[in-house]
Amino acid sequence: MNKKRSNLMGKNQKYVYFFGNGKAEGTAEMKGLLGGKGANLAEMTNIGLPVPPGFTMTTEVCTYYYDHGRSYPRSLRKDVKTALGKVEKSMKAKLGDSANPLLVSVRSGARASMPGMMDTILNLGLNDETVKGLIARTNNERFAYDCYRRFVQMYGDVVMGLKPVHKDDIDPFEALIEEKKKQKGVYLDTELNADDLKDLVAQFKSAIKKHAGKEFPQNPMDQLWGAIGAVFGSWMNDRAIAYRRMYDIPGSWGTAVNIQTMVFGNMGEDSGTGVAFTRDPATGENVFYGEFLMNAQGEDVVAGIRTPLPISELSKRDPASLKQLGNIRSKLEKHYKDVMDIEFTIQQGRLYMLQCRVGKRTAFAAIKIAVDMVLEKLISNKEALRRIEPDQLNQLLRPIFDPEQKANAVRGGKLLAKGLNAGPGAASGRVVFNAADAEEWAKRGERVILTRIETSPEDIKGMDAAEGILTARGGMTSHAALVARQMGKVCVAGCSVLEIDYSSRTMRVNGKVIREGEWISIDGSTGEVVEGKLETRPSEVQQVLIDRTLDPKKAPVYQEFARIMSWADEYRRLKIRTNADQPDQSANAVAFGAEGIGLCRTEHMFFGEGKIGPMREMILADTLEDRKAALKKLLPLQRKDFEGIFEVMDGMPVTIRTIDPPLHEFLPHDEKSQRALAGEMGLSYEKVKQRVESLHEFNPMLGFRGCRLGVIFPEITEMQARAIFEAAAIVKKKGKEVEPEVMIPLVGNILELTHQEKIVREVAQSVMKEQGVKFKYLVGTMIEIPRGALTADQIAASAEFFSFGTNDLTQTTLGVSRDDAGKFLIPYVEKEIYSKDPFEAIDRAGVGELMKIAVRKGRSVKPDLKLGICGEHGGEPSSVEFCHEIGLDYVSCSPFRVPIARLAAARAALKDQRSKGKSSSGRKTAPWKRKRSR
Ligand code: ADP
Ligand code: MG
Ligand code: MG
Repeated sequence: MNKKRSNLMGKNQKYVYFFGNGKAEGTAEMKGLLGGKGANLAEMTNIGLPVPPGFTMTTEVCTYYYDHGRSYPRSLRKDVKTALGKVEKSMKAKLGDSANPLLVSVRSGARASMPGMMDTILNLGLNDETVKGLIARTNNERFAYDCYRRFVQMYGDVVMGLKPVHKDDIDPFEALIEEKKKQKGVYLDTELNADDLKDLVAQFKSAIKKHAGKEFPQNPMDQLWGAIGAVFGSWMNDRAIAYRRMYDIPGSWGTAVNIQTMVFGNMGEDSGTGVAFTRDPATGENVFYGEFLMNAQGEDVVAGIRTPLPISELSKRDPASLKQLGNIRSKLEKHYKDVMDIEFTIQQGRLYMLQCRVGKRTAFAAIKIAVDMVLEKLISNKEALRRIEPDQLNQLLRPIFDPEQKANAVRGGKLLAKGLNAGPGAASGRVVFNAADAEEWAKRGERVILTRIETSPEDIKGMDAAEGILTARGGMTSHAALVARQMGKVCVAGCSVLEIDYSSRTMRVNGKVIREGEWISIDGSTGEVVEGKLETRPSEVQQVLIDRTLDPKKAPVYQEFARIMSWADEYRRLKIRTNADQPDQSANAVAFGAEGIGLCRTEHMFFGEGKIGPMREMILADTLEDRKAALKKLLPLQRKDFEGIFEVMDGMPVTIRTIDPPLHEFLPHDEKSQRALAGEMGLSYEKVKQRVESLHEFNPMLGFRGCRLGVIFPEITEMQARAIFEAAAIVKKKGKEVEPEVMIPLVGNILELTHQEKIVREVAQSVMKEQGVKFKYLVGTMIEIPRGALTADQIAASAEFFSFGTNDLTQTTLGVSRDDAGKFLIPYVEKEIYSKDPFEAIDRAGVGELMKIAVRKGRSVKPDLKLGICGEHGGEPSSVEFCHEIGLDYVSCSPFRVPIARLAAARAALKDQRSKGKSSSGRKTAPWKRKRSR
């Protein structure tokens, strides 16, 4: 493909793909080349749906355009002419023909859907002459001028750059329309007559001239190329760039351009336009879900200027079209085996399909739809798993409002309004009225609700920064609703009783005035908007699994969650553990499906009740005796912690790391606390101060920490080992299995490990003897500095397991201190120096390579070496996939990410199966697939 592609960049490159008359040159598979819109227009044409004819210019033209100083390949003009000729022939009309003009739309469409981010121009081909032709042919002057004013408006905005200047400004064209309506004393666009619209066209044209210093072009071919250039140009507009960054869409993909015969939903009351989903995208319910407007053109529905009607209402206006749409709905679902999002237009009772794509949905809906489709035998459970992004599970775990508190608020008259439940979940925050403010306030740490008359693609960053989104206009498929669902934001849309005034930054509702900065709460599951701040409470899943306050039989969301999890467990190879150092955290993780503890940080325990005193005593001790005396006090306390954890984990493996942070972290640094400490310890203030100073390090991350502490103060390791094993003995005697794994941190040299290992094993021996009980245990190490990874074969001679500490390994491999990286790492990611924050997703080329070396070298001496990861990356889906690929045995992550890791691990296994299935069967089995003794 690649080779072919680059060869084709030459003369015989096919840049243009025709669709129409029941046949298309493209297919749904060709999204890379034709963009999602173009590929699906082709597919719909091929499966016999009514699609107005047109053609698609490929994404390669876009790439060419940007590689060649915004110019086109030579052959393009000719190809466009040929394709346009085919469309003209099929429509029996001609672009620019004054008697029978063809009108087209020029539509953007990238490989990945970027709703509303790029530009589209409708009704192209109209000018002062062709508009007369249109009038003559339709006998409808009002309609013709409505098309013309829409065209001049869009062209003036998109191609000639007449847009609002300031964020509080209204669109200059809309201002003229508003003015006109006021003059005429009407409320809706549809109430303006032909003369009004004709006058608006003239006003628009002179506004454009004034702004651009150029006339609005009359020649349709000039119009066409102007529009094409603008659509390609919109690939690089700020909002498209911001959107791509947010969704990891590479700039190199480019957009396609679709040129398509216009059909008209604005021809009168027997015409209309709408959008629909084959199932409810908010709840996932299996109902046809959509909205339409009669006598309107596409953008009117999406932009939310008039509030559309639910699709069921179409039964009153045009039952035949509704029936046809119902058939198309099931045909599409059977064909695509997924929920589709469609755009349609009815022109004088005739239905046309203008777009279809896989429908974006909330996490709730994604899960319900996937489960339902498995039950309907439309897809396999494997396919269901492939369709749910692991991070979507986050939404299921999100809090909801405390029902009682909400009920009280409503009873107390705090219910301000009810809009559409466009993005489920609960959010409270301060009201802000524009996206820039939302971003700014959120940066300061404020929780905000972005409140707009309607949102537009420019608002995307502010929407991302807000807790929730509230709009006064627009339906369930409006921009706000669509984007909110995709982002997993709480959203209430179309709340028409809100009177929002941007300039005074207030909203009036039911006689109340809410000002910028005041608290409101929105419930995206019911559409309620409540004054003030409501407390939230745990999700259904949490109530069932963690709090155990809800009967699973009464929790449908939980049931679907459980089903997905059980399917995931069917396919995943990786085990999932958790990072926890308290019994209750461990219990939560087990409820979420954890199969062990991958990292128990003992230092967190030292901050627990009664422990910091003896800990400090130990650190401040001058002599070995004093230190041992302090450790003796710590021993029973630590033992108790471990006992609790072993009990909860009930035989599952528990990896416990010996002390890791530099000791000064346990001491106070201000004079007042130091004096207090001195008093408690019976020491002089000077002595304490001097000890703290002596522990000061210039670079603690690379200082006296990790196993270095245990090597210099072996008695610390000894105490910790004793606490672990005595706890193990106690629990074992109670009849529960235990599986402690003692993990030595920050090992770079095998001799560090053997030094510590010897202590641990000696303690284990004596505890078993003293207690008269035997238990299994392992001694292993963290691989978190490059030397450890590079000498993994030496280390594996002694270590029984490796756990990749990818936080430190990333710091030490990149030479970046995570705590100091804020200033440059985000800009680095923006400049694409690193494609993602390497502390979030494993840097495969660097850190990942070291991991691979360690895996290979480690297993070369010990084929059954147990391998895991315990850095933050262990709960991040792409990193989980990487861990699967390199053959680790488990990943470990924080308790609430356990379900995400389970799903990510299953998806990685399925992806692996698929690629193995595709490649030759003679391939060598992966190392982890070979039978191992353990
Ligand atoms: P986006 O990618 O932002 O959704 P589209 O290219 O789908 O933009 O165009 C926006 C709207 O314009 C659509 O909702 C569609 O209804 C309308 N539209 C586009 N092309 C045509 C056409 N050929 N005839 C009638 N309406 C069209
Ligand atoms: Mg569209
Ligand atoms: Mg570490």
